[in-house]
Amino acid sequence: MSALTVREKLAVLSDAAKYDASCASSGAAKKDSLESGGIGSTEGMGICHSYAPDGRCISLLKILLTNFCIYDCSYCINRSSSNVRRARFGIDEVVKLTMDFYRRNYIEGLFLSSGVVRSPDETMGEMVEVARRLRLEEKFSGYIHLKTIPESSAELVEQAGLYADRLSINVELPTDEGVKRLAPEKKPETIRLSMARLRQKMEEKAEPTLKTKKRERFAPGGQSTQMIIGADKTSDDGILHTSARLYGSYHLRRVYYSAFSPIPDSSSSLPLQKPPLMREHRLYQADWLMRFYGFSQPEILAGSSDGMLDLAIDPKLGWALRNRGQFPIDINRADREALLRVPGLGTKVVAKILETRRHRRMRLEDVGWICQSIAKLRPFIIAEGWSPGALTDKAGLREKIASSCEQLSLF
Ligand code: SF4
Repeated sequence: MSALTVREKLAVLSDAAKYDASCASSGAAKKDSLESGGIGSTEGMGICHSYAPDGRCISLLKILLTNFCIYDCSYCINRSSSNVRRARFGIDEVVKLTMDFYRRNYIEGLFLSSGVVRSPDETMGEMVEVARRLRLEEKFSGYIHLKTIPESSAELVEQAGLYADRLSINVELPTDEGVKRLAPEKKPETIRLSMARLRQKMEEKAEPTLKTKKRERFAPGGQSTQMIIGADKTSDDGILHTSARLYGSYHLRRVYYSAFSPIPDSSSSLPLQKPPLMREHRLYQADWLMRFYGFSQPEILAGSSDGMLDLAIDPKLGWALRNRGQFPIDINRADREALLRVPGLGTKVVAKILETRRHRRMRLEDVGWICQSIAKLRPFIIAEGWSPGALTDKAGLREKIASSCEQLSLF
């Protein structure tokens, strides 16, 4: 086989990286290199490849170091038994590409993952070396996200944290049983141990040292993970249960949900069709309910017959329809926690309601002015001059709201 050019490698290895969803740069420390005399900044706007949860567009060079892999995870296009075209970057090539792209303002940072070549330590060592050279030799201050290989040594992961803004370790599948069945060379215990070590290291480094009285820099963007959904039969309730455990036990910044993509010559144990993309979207919405809206994981789908999120309506509306006894809520009297549970009221709208009602009682139209649509919330609130009466308990309410939301999305 003739040697590939850098351009050909880039085509292969950026395409191979597209299956990884966990590349948003939210949580990165803001910094630039004006003072250090280096180059790069994690701030600013650019060509968009990813969106942070705060809506910021970020552009990353998102590549694999190599798509050769000694493992054979059955859901992965790069598994050892796959007949895919292979390529491997050298460390110099990734450093040069990153700097060239950055100088041309194509990117704001690097997202680097890799298949496992020869051994986890050898691969991880090369990824760390890329980050080290970028930071120390090229004085690169842009964003770096390294995907960590759980089986690699603790020392290497610790070094990675010195140079990267964010580290991530893929939990792969929602259940241990799924990992053992579809990624037999990976051990769920090892993945958890690696996440626990990272959490411990981040907490240690967050304390100011006795000598310098400063915090040491260590992966300031925290750690995240990715879970493939739809490759096994785990319900949405089961997926959210795993996410809640990961947030609680390892203080992850984000869990990313990546809908399984069917791959050529795949194992018969995998589904032939990908799950609807809307499922991914609903899981992200439910994830936000746990992180920003005060919902506990079990209550999101409590009372659902199959443990699956309704694809036609958002999870908060689904919860409200199953818990109509808790409504209507008086928007002129309810506390913030209760208001956050009203369908259609986001955190910013709730803040505006709390501010406005300090000066006057709010009518339904007043709420209409500050939120996108009152169709969703009319049955669930009491306002000055408005009471939903029997509307809250009306049969067919779900269908009525779902169709008005659908009509809205057309315009
Ligand atoms: S270790 Fe990663 S790259 Fe290798 S087969 Fe498994 S998922 Fe794919």
